[in-house]
Amino acid sequence: MNITCVGAAGTVTGSNYLVEAEGVRILIDCGMFQGSRQLEERNYLAFPYDPKTVTHLILTHAHIDHSGLIPKLVRDGFSGEILSTSATADLCEIMLADSAHIQEMESEWRNRKKKRAGRHRLIYPLYTKENAAAAMAYFTPVDYGMDRVLSSKVRVRFNDAGHILGSAIVELWIKEGDREVKVVFSGDLGSTNQPIIKDPTPIPDADVVFIESTYGDRLHKSKESTYEELKAVIRAAHADRGNVIIPAFAVERTQEVLYILNALRQKDEIPPMALYVDSPLAISATEIFLQHPECFDKETLEKLRTGNHPLEYPGMRFTPTREESIKLNEITHGAIIIAASGMGHAGRIKHHLRYNLWRPEAHVVFVGYQAQGTTGRLIVDGARRVKIFGEQVAVNAKVHTIGGFSAHADRDGLLKWLDHFDPKPAAVVIIHGEARSASAFAGHVRDRLGLDSIVPAMGELIDLDVAMGRFAQKGAVVPPLAFHEELDRVWEALDDILTRVGDIEDLEDPVSQKSLTPRLHIVNEKLAGIRQELAQAEAGSA
Ligand SMILES: [Zn+2]
Ligand SMILES: [Zn+2]
Repeated sequence: MNITCVGAAGTVTGSNYLVEAEGVRILIDCGMFQGSRQLEERNYLAFPYDPKTVTHLILTHAHIDHSGLIPKLVRDGFSGEILSTSATADLCEIMLADSAHIQEMESEWRNRKKKRAGRHRLIYPLYTKENAAAAMAYFTPVDYGMDRVLSSKVRVRFNDAGHILGSAIVELWIKEGDREVKVVFSGDLGSTNQPIIKDPTPIPDADVVFIESTYGDRLHKSKESTYEELKAVIRAAHADRGNVIIPAFAVERTQEVLYILNALRQKDEIPPMALYVDSPLAISATEIFLQHPECFDKETLEKLRTGNHPLEYPGMRFTPTREESIKLNEITHGAIIIAASGMGHAGRIKHHLRYNLWRPEAHVVFVGYQAQGTTGRLIVDGARRVKIFGEQVAVNAKVHTIGGFSAHADRDGLLKWLDHFDPKPAAVVIIHGEARSASAFAGHVRDRLGLDSIVPAMGELIDLDVAMGRFAQKGAVVPPLAFHEELDRVWEALDDILTRVGDIEDLEDPVSQKSLTPRLHIVNEKLAGIRQELAQAEAGSA
């Protein structure tokens, strides 16, 4: 039985794992790569498996880095079942449509630029709104805690992961011959005491556990001190007569921030500033939250029962239309603006950063993970100016990172969840973390829990028999045939880049423009060398 880590290995985004056993081909997640341009290019490559041959897609939650390539999967021939909780399916409906909209807008914007520059080779969106809508027909909702039989050999169960509304930990039982192997995918694990939703479910047993490691090398501040920090920022911005700009994921983070701002305002702990939620997606997501009380924790249910709406800040304004959103650019002080994306590299937040980052009286508050290569990450890392819509914008605003909002368990939260397995799993596979975080977490898993783990590379195939220590310690690498195919794809991509390199007008930096062509030639030569070596090695062994 093999599991290939197609994405979210050595990196956080692009979750996609292919499970292959006797007669089954199941995907866990089908996420989009997000972050650097290099990483995002991967979204355009063909899937390294034939979507037509995949029987089921098990979706852990609605975040785009887990669900974002589903429309492409369906367009490319997948016609099996997509299993998820019903909250996840509802969220996917709005999030995939939104993602398609972003893809279409981006390609339109680039094409307009190309036309103005007199270039005629246009680019196509990764997928369209029609593709996203078509994918929804394949969703089948599954309740938490119920066994769902996929075939005579496979059954699956979803458990609350406490990460976002509808998020799940997946238990998967697969029969091979006369034995049954149980694999658990943590999905993204939530932190405890997250408002609105429940805590992650402890799972008692597994043969193999795939665990995320986004914050495998860090501890979060407590929720209490996190809310104190937010309170201090709002008060400071009020005193500075500036705006507060909060880039936030439309789903979960926006609702959590609303929940806290509402609580602080009710206790009169923050001054009355105008609050704008400038995200059509966040507005729809908030409605979906209210349709899924089965996902709420006791505290939230109690608030609702007593008529205290936990997501309503007094005087809060939603700005769904483009015109309303543009109007916000005129506000120079006294407003709290929450907009997506959470990493500042897409969506309406780009406008708010452009209009506020250069103002010394403004405060920008990052309340979520900032992936490498995003505008948010550059600002957090101390860039003095950033490029937004092709324009340099100085970073004069006060920048705050409030880490404790995370919807992810921190190092100790992950270890605690892993420690619930009794007996201990035969193998632990550490995924969904940047290389440094994943390997640091592997060290903690060994030192604190006495468990060996595998930190797979992107594309690595893990033979579960090997992983469970039946034959050896370490997972096998991608077999030569798959490697050849992979190489061919890289080869094709490079060829394409080389023929198009004269066409690239998006690289504003003339130095990198000039150095690009010779560099690509070097890569090409190196690949030719590898290919030759491989061919020789194969000829030698035949
Ligand atoms: Zn997530
Ligand atoms: Zn994730």
